Amino acid sequence: MTSQQDDRIKEFENEVRKRGGNAVIDWKESNSPESRGILFADVDGVTLMVYLDGLISIPAVRTYHPPRYPTPIIAAVLATELWTMQKARDDAQPETAKSRVTGHLGPIVDPNLKCRIEECRCQKESQEDRQRRARGGYNWNPDRCS
Ligand SMILES: [Zn+2]
Repeated sequence: MTSQQDDRIKEFENEVRKRGGNAVIDWKESNSPESRGILFADVDGVTLMVYLDGLISIPAVRTYHPPRYPTPIIAAVLATELWTMQKARDDAQPETAKSRVTGHLGPIVDPNLKCRIEECRCQKESQEDRQRRARGGYNWNPDRCS
């Protein structure tokens, strides 16, 4: 674990505690070529990742916006809520959901950067595309709002 990862996890756990949640989280360091050194955790059924540089991300979630989600930490703390909203939108527009270049159709993303949904585009993508997909939700871009 890098010191940036350690700092980010402490920050995340403090935020969880502040909101009365359970901050005991089992982070696992990836050995997969797609994500070596990145920490993965399943938090209430949604995968969180912490990159070596300390970036925390929710690989399944495409996008989030201020003011409710002002920082990646807050978004990560509210990951299940973000996932539930995305799932409702995706279920209403399944074809659009399948065509997205970020996010996933399933909430759990494994160290190979694939979710567990067969119809999700990640299943057939190259390693580079999956790495880009995993990072997708972090950079807030108004063009991607929908
Ligand atoms: Zn997927």
